[in-house]
Amino acid sequence: MYWSSRSIAWVLVPAFLGSCATGTAPSSAPAPASPIVSGDVGVGLGAATASRGPTAPSRASFETAIAEGTRTSAGVPGPDYWSQEVDYSIEAELNPETAVLEGRETITYRNRSPDPLDRVILRLYQNLFAPGAERTRTVPVTGGMTVDRVEVDGRVFPSRPDRPTRGAYLIDGTLMAVYLEEALRPGGSLQLEVEWSFEVPPAGAPRQGHIENGLFNIAQWYPQVAVYDDLEGWHIWPYLGNGEFYLEYGDFDVAITVPEGWLVGATGALQNSGEVLTQEIASRVERAMTTDQVVRVVTEEDLDAGRATVASAGGTLTWRFRAENVRDFAFATSDQYVWDASRAITPDADGDGEDELVGVHALYRPSVDSWTDAAEYIRHAVTFHAERWHPYPWPQMTGAEGPVDGMEYPMLTFVSAFPEPRMVYEVLNHEIGHMWYPMMVGSNESSYPWMDEGLTTYIEAYATADYWDDPEYWRNDQGAYLIVAGLEAETPIMRHADLHGPYGTYGQAAYWKPATLLRALEGVIGREAVWAALRDYSESWQYGHPAPEDFFNLVEATAAQDLDWFWYPFWYETAALDQAITGVRITGSSGDREAEITLANLGDALMPVSLALQLSDGTALSQTVPVQVWFGGAGRHTVGVDLPPGAELEAVEIDPEALFPDVNRENNVWQP
Ligand SMILES: [Zn+2]
Repeated sequence: MYWSSRSIAWVLVPAFLGSCATGTAPSSAPAPASPIVSGDVGVGLGAATASRGPTAPSRASFETAIAEGTRTSAGVPGPDYWSQEVDYSIEAELNPETAVLEGRETITYRNRSPDPLDRVILRLYQNLFAPGAERTRTVPVTGGMTVDRVEVDGRVFPSRPDRPTRGAYLIDGTLMAVYLEEALRPGGSLQLEVEWSFEVPPAGAPRQGHIENGLFNIAQWYPQVAVYDDLEGWHIWPYLGNGEFYLEYGDFDVAITVPEGWLVGATGALQNSGEVLTQEIASRVERAMTTDQVVRVVTEEDLDAGRATVASAGGTLTWRFRAENVRDFAFATSDQYVWDASRAITPDADGDGEDELVGVHALYRPSVDSWTDAAEYIRHAVTFHAERWHPYPWPQMTGAEGPVDGMEYPMLTFVSAFPEPRMVYEVLNHEIGHMWYPMMVGSNESSYPWMDEGLTTYIEAYATADYWDDPEYWRNDQGAYLIVAGLEAETPIMRHADLHGPYGTYGQAAYWKPATLLRALEGVIGREAVWAALRDYSESWQYGHPAPEDFFNLVEATAAQDLDWFWYPFWYETAALDQAITGVRITGSSGDREAEITLANLGDALMPVSLALQLSDGTALSQTVPVQVWFGGAGRHTVGVDLPPGAELEAVEIDPEALFPDVNRENNVWQP
């Protein structure tokens, strides 16, 4: 999801903005960070390293998972790792005039867990919009979801709203429990059939909506099975509007019926283009897959002439899509969309040694000029991320313009008609970054929003920097975090998305702070190690459910060092970093002089100290003080740097590239 960093600047006093967030940002690109090498330390290390520094907590359920072999201390899945598999077959029909979507679905649930399950929990997200629903944000109110029929393996289950009853279902807000007559044994499967309907909310709803019954972005629309995992069993935190999703993987066959003349973009690959597209339109789509040019598949003239789709005797057409190994399904439909298409050539994802041919599609209203190059943007973002973090495993990527600022679904993003083309790129790129986290790597977004938003914000900055030649773009994230760093308003990264404070504290905890810290981590273990860890994480947890501990462990394994001192103060607490130079003394005589630099760690967060010394003869010296000097609670540390003969010390600066999120950079500089 897109979360505007501008909003936070409006609501929180930018206490540090003038002095540190933007004031000392270098105007040129920093060189790639190099790992900090220990051993070039001054005095005091011996006693300090006796302490290990802050330790991140480990949950009992995580320790149990390691003991049971589903997880490991190396951050990769254990030999006995499992996740549930849930396949969906859905038929739905949209009536644009009433905005009512009616559907029926068959869910095939496979219990891969070692536990017998006496119930299946489903999510009815549309009940967020029901009158009186519990929620964390203002939404348009519809009637919520009507469930008309529930069957389990062919047997009709009645509703029992008053209490849990075997052979019946119970709806409570956005959750629905189906109590089985007999427990589903490990290795067994069942089929759940559900019929339902609801009114699609208008624009202004989170993550979905329609614009005046003419353009629909539809999501969180079908009853969906909740996650049952090895750490917590059923995940039953309700959908309240802010926290996002935690979803099982499976295959989807979806048939969407809309009026003729309406285009549909969706998760998955279109299976019946011959039944819904004219020969001319279908041939343009085919041509788009053979060229790096953008093909205007459906133009404004085609819309005016009624040529966007074939005609239908009944006035409606059914679009059939199939998607494999996805955790959700969404779609966009309108009779106002023009359609641009092209292709992306991305690295081999299926192991056959061949590059992948990925369809690229952009759907937008022709009046929205900022979307003219959207297909180019999508191609760039998909290709950029596929080449760096993990190959893109799906056949296409669609961007659909509409009422939603920015939201991600597998192979589909909703992005609004931002007036500036660059903004369209940035938000498309952010949502496409989500194809890696959480679409490929299926973390728990609601409990740990940083695992999808933070990682996505970190990787998107590289793609934006590449496309717009703007290597300093990531400093927007650093600046947004520094506005609240260490202030009372800040809330910890490791907090459920629904439990943050007002204003921008969710944004900083989920997006900008973790992204800023992953950049800072480059200054500790090296950019290559951070990127290697992300690649390994993506590969190890593709279509799985990593926990925060898995991510931390995997990064530590990649870096071959303990980083609890980094995770704990920054992730679990709201410690801020404030490194300072409190004094410099020159000792010795002309041939044998040393600068004794006294450093202070004024914040509660720890980091190595990266020192740059400038001499009168133009010489630049650098020295790194390892983080271990701060272990055991030391607040001050003195380091000695040998000075060459004949040159005077002109300046000393901590972290001159401003890679670390230091809340006060004014005390980072010493001059005689
Ligand atoms: Zn996002």
